[in-house]
Amino acid sequence: MNQTYQKPIPEMQPWSKEYWKGTKQHKLLIQTCNECGAKIFYPRKFCPECWSKDLGWIEAKGTARVYSFTITRDMVEPKFMPDLPYVLAMVDLDEGIRMMTRIVECDHDKIRIGMDVEVVFEDISDDCALPMFRPIRSSQD
Ligand SMILES: [Zn+2]
Repeated sequence: MNQTYQKPIPEMQPWSKEYWKGTKQHKLLIQTCNECGAKIFYPRKFCPECWSKDLGWIEAKGTARVYSFTITRDMVEPKFMPDLPYVLAMVDLDEGIRMMTRIVECDHDKIRIGMDVEVVFEDISDDCALPMFRPIRSSQD
């Protein structure tokens, strides 16, 4: 862990604790509804489809495709300035979840919509890591 981590750290809620605990083990967990089978992201107290409180978790494969992205070059909150330029993206997980993330370990000129990516984790505190995505090596060339 980096004791000097300056950026905001996610706030743990009772219903998101398990998700963040997963990230710390470098697992990407998706909340599921035991009543109607819906896959839920981000974590919630109730199923947004049927309002059931009977929720569980599955581990995502961690593979996704880039749905959209932008290269952030300026005009960010000062704590994020040292990261510039960085790639903000929305990716579609194999499980049907669309999530906001960053694309890392990739030449910015090579990022494309539809590109295959896989999850990697950046440990930021004793309680959580941030899921980010990098190109799947075999599909990059
Ligand atoms: Zn449901």
